[in-house]
Amino acid sequence: MLCVHESNRKDWAKIQNGVIKLHPYCNKCGTLKNVSSDRGKKISYFVMVLSRLRKILKKRGYKVSETQIRLIVRELSEIEGFDDVWCITFSKQKEIFIRTIQKYVRVSKEFLESVI
Ligand SMILES: [Zn+2]
Repeated sequence: MLCVHESNRKDWAKIQNGVIKLHPYCNKCGTLKNVSSDRGKKISYFVMVLSRLRKILKKRGYKVSETQIRLIVRELSEIEGFDDVWCITFSKQKEIFIRTIQKYVRVSKEFLESVI
């Protein structure tokens, strides 16, 4: 089961650019909270992107079926930690999202990046 993170403690931790900063971490599982500006989003955001993507592709004559969309959403929701906004970064989510879409829909990474 996923941890419902909570924190009332902070610890010193290194952040990406080498600056040491006080970081909140989860009391229960110890996961460090992502406090960068690269914040993750809930899965509903990606569901919305998928429907936008579908519309754009339809205009270009490429039909994406309901089933394909459902499979992508199901796969994303089964990836542990995908929408754990406590710690995941948006960059990491985008990477997973693009990789997952490409399993079901034949579109380029560049195109997907322009839509997300
Ligand atoms: Zn936790």
